[in-house]
Amino acid sequence: MMLLMMISSIHLISQKTFHFNKHMAKPNGYVLQRGFSPIDGKPFVVIMTMKSNNRKTGKMLQVWILNESVNPVEAIATGADYTICGDCPHRKQSDGSRSCYVNVGQAPNSIWKAYKRGSYGNLSDLDLAEIKGKRIRWGAYGDPSIIDRYLVKALNKRAAGHTGYTHQWKQPWAQWCKNVFQASCDSFEDYLNASAHGWKTFAVIPKGSEAYSGKLCPATADNSQATCATCKLCDGAKTDIFVEAHGTGAKYV
Ligand code: SF4
Repeated sequence: MMLLMMISSIHLISQKTFHFNKHMAKPNGYVLQRGFSPIDGKPFVVIMTMKSNNRKTGKMLQVWILNESVNPVEAIATGADYTICGDCPHRKQSDGSRSCYVNVGQAPNSIWKAYKRGSYGNLSDLDLAEIKGKRIRWGAYGDPSIIDRYLVKALNKRAAGHTGYTHQWKQPWAQWCKNVFQASCDSFEDYLNASAHGWKTFAVIPKGSEAYSGKLCPATADNSQATCATCKLCDGAKTDIFVEAHGTGAKYV
């Protein structure tokens, strides 16, 4: 249990708002970390949910990075999502448009509310057997570069694979994510820049436009059965991937 002890010693785990009762049934998610964002110093929380019905990713453990004290819907409205997404261009813009594919009114909002009700276990309650053989999606919402690097690496060692993407690849403090997460790119210039600095990339291109990098995400190919759980290409180390804009914000990209 050395690994668990090491993870548990991460100083960012606070007990202060945790109310989960160990005698209750196993929780369907765990608070992995509470910390202060390297982006703006404000508090965030990292929650891993154990079950997923996401059609594109398939069965993966989903990791959500949320503002600790502001619900995700309000965070977008007020711009407080800067804490967890930084300068990602898919955040809400001054003209009201937002091209992020995550609908925060759905899963992120429910998960944040469940967190505030104390529905999730703590990292120290997580049986590592629950990770073994599973794949982790780091950043079902929020940028995983702000998570503690030792936590990410320790859980990845136990898992059967992972995916992750960061828009923070130009930041000095995010360089540990190279070979761990894909660099999210929004232009050919981004792609060239990230590649020149050793990143594997993930580019979102406007629907119908010409691709400039790597392989098309197989989950988005016509009639494909692929999911992230079966594909596993986006682990920051394998190859460059592109995808056409999808989801609720596709029309804005
Ligand atoms: S390339 Fe594979 S891992 Fe990456 S988003 Fe597509 S299906 Fe998921």
